Amino acid sequence: MTKQILVLPGDGIGKEIIAEAVKILAVLCDDFALDVEITEGVIGGAAYDAYSHPYPEETKTQARIADAILLGSVGGYEYDKLPRDLRPERGLLGIRADLGLFSNLRPAILNTELADASSLKPEVVAGLDIMIVRELTGGIYFGEPRGIRELESGEKQGYNTLIYKESEIERIAHSAFKIAMKRDKRLCSVDKANVLEVMELWHEVVERVAKEYPEVELSHMYVDNAAMQLVKDPKQFDVMVTGNMFGDILSDAAAMLTGSIGMLPSASLDINGKGMYEPIHGSAPDIAGKNIANPLATIMSVSMLLRYSLDEEALAQKIDAAVEAVLKNGLRTQDIATDGDHVVSTSAMGDAVAIALRDLK
Ligand code: NAD
Repeated sequence: MTKQILVLPGDGIGKEIIAEAVKILAVLCDDFALDVEITEGVIGGAAYDAYSHPYPEETKTQARIADAILLGSVGGYEYDKLPRDLRPERGLLGIRADLGLFSNLRPAILNTELADASSLKPEVVAGLDIMIVRELTGGIYFGEPRGIRELESGEKQGYNTLIYKESEIERIAHSAFKIAMKRDKRLCSVDKANVLEVMELWHEVVERVAKEYPEVELSHMYVDNAAMQLVKDPKQFDVMVTGNMFGDILSDAAAMLTGSIGMLPSASLDINGKGMYEPIHGSAPDIAGKNIANPLATIMSVSMLLRYSLDEEALAQKIDAAVEAVLKNGLRTQDIATDGDHVVSTSAMGDAVAIALRDLK
């Protein structure tokens, strides 16, 4: 059956990078019999311009129907003075909440060709391939009660609540185990069970879910040690699963091991595997409209979309191989170029990946 992909370019470089990702989808449809229908919608600042809301009803309807969503990026200086609720970033929070996208997948992949871009030694990071699975809709960012209160002494006290229900831990654990099954079948659950009761429960529930995935080797690590190990020996990890706040911090640290923001895709999934796929970077207003942005994070988001929402692993691997071939040939956008590299534009990079993909037929 034809699958529906909703494309939301958003703002800034969003339009430029999404155009290159759509080129790749077109090659897959023409040459590899991918059966998808692509529709386009608006989100963020572009949606505010069209409908006076960053996540309007029109987009909501499109998003609910789609099997998967490919998003560029949102945000721009011109929207910074709007009331908080109407700012582009609210569009992102809105669509995540509306679709129940609780499982955030952040890979940190470092192509061997780009090992010099990392601030760590090339031998520590070359060939890095970690997947961090972060719980996205619970934990301390959403827990109640929260606030700032005044104590009897007159001193102010700020407080938040770190809470997880068994069902919330179960569903993120299932999501992580399923992803581990598609990779090297090793899962590390990151918690702070030595100090926090909620994490004791996290540990216990992950152990329980593990019984349903006997092929996956499960380990546990405290978050402070995990932060240390990520920097010391990141290649020891395959998949890591953790709560919202720990995941926020660890996934940014892991992403930066690769040194190149323009290379990293991400996914946010619901309970049925429907997902929204987007590069981790923003709308880069400083380079928007110049045809110099790196489209590879968005192209690799298409690869994740095929793998996790459309169950098209073979095609996902073809995209990954095409990107690798282009980098091997020395093509670089300006953000990942070093002296002597062949620097190309956004559209030329997209064309090169499309040609490399066709060559894999
Ligand atoms: P940013 O990620 O847009 O840019 C940071 C730096 O990285 C800039 O110098 C930019 O030129 C560069 N960069 C980013 N993506 C690149 C690419 N593909 N190729 C080459 N260089 C790239 O972050 P920012 O400047 O802090 O934020 C700009 C806007 O984006 C803000 O409005 C912010 O709220 C928004 N934002 C959106 C998202 C999202 O859509 N998911 C994420 C982060 C920030």
